[in-house]
Amino acid sequence: MQLWMDGALVGASEQAVSPIAHALHYGTGVFEGIRAYETAQGPAIFRLDEHLARLGRGAETLGMAVDLGLMRAGCLETLAASGLQAAYLRPLVFYETGGLGLDVAGLKVRHLVVALPWKNHLGEGEQRGVRVRTSSFRRNSAKALPPLKLCGAYVNSVLAKLEATRAGFEEALFVDGRGFVVECTGENVFLVKHGKLTAVESADALPGITRATVIDLTGAEIRPVSLAELRDADEIFLTGTSAEITPVGTLDDRKLAVGPLTKDLQARYASLVRGKSETSRGWLTHLSGVSV
Ligand code: PMP
Repeated sequence: MQLWMDGALVGASEQAVSPIAHALHYGTGVFEGIRAYETAQGPAIFRLDEHLARLGRGAETLGMAVDLGLMRAGCLETLAASGLQAAYLRPLVFYETGGLGLDVAGLKVRHLVVALPWKNHLGEGEQRGVRVRTSSFRRNSAKALPPLKLCGAYVNSVLAKLEATRAGFEEALFVDGRGFVVECTGENVFLVKHGKLTAVESADALPGITRATVIDLTGAEIRPVSLAELRDADEIFLTGTSAEITPVGTLDDRKLAVGPLTKDLQARYASLVRGKSETSRGWLTHLSGVSV
């Protein structure tokens, strides 16, 4: 693991965070999950600037002044120092010291980037199809917690994931009070019916960058989808930086095959992120900082 904090590379043992860090107690931070892939020109970060922009929106929501240029340099520096050809980058900005009250004005902000080796967190599910269970938990309403990568918001995902794994499943699907699909704990949802691809739309779902990539590549239609409609799909897959394109093999009591459209997209995505096809959109940032 390579670590960067507040502008400089640091050893893991050198870094201390206060036990009364505001974020530790209240979840007052915002993070990103970014991947770098091995390309013919060395490691490159996929859609770095879109991830940084989302980090910036989260920071702004928390009233935090964050220098995104510094965070960008931090991502590149950390990846380079890690020596990894493919990595997961975890930028995090959080409130640390200055008080334990709920007024965050004037609190110290810490900036962190970690680079780690990574595999899809859904494991073999990426090939065989992941086992998904509809959650009894509701997703955070956008009116209560905006769908951004705010640290505290992820307690909601943790509870849903726990419920699903305790029941022998691997992932949880959030459905809203009207019976419409929202998202999974860390992925957006797509379905295929009669060869037509649809991206599930929900105000409570995180605007995923992988989802936007798939929509861009395929021209998928974007609309709200009920759980009943999803259950009737020919193919279902999940998208996320970590999950990439992960097929759903089981949804509650329904079994689904990994379908041709999902397989085709998996292959397209795998070659896109490694700069083997459909390049020149500025989506790959090399260690030099230049995006191609
Ligand atoms: N929804 C949630 C709740 C997530 O945490 C993630 C992962 N960032 C996603 C969807 C997928 O977003 P992205 O494609 O930007 O990684």
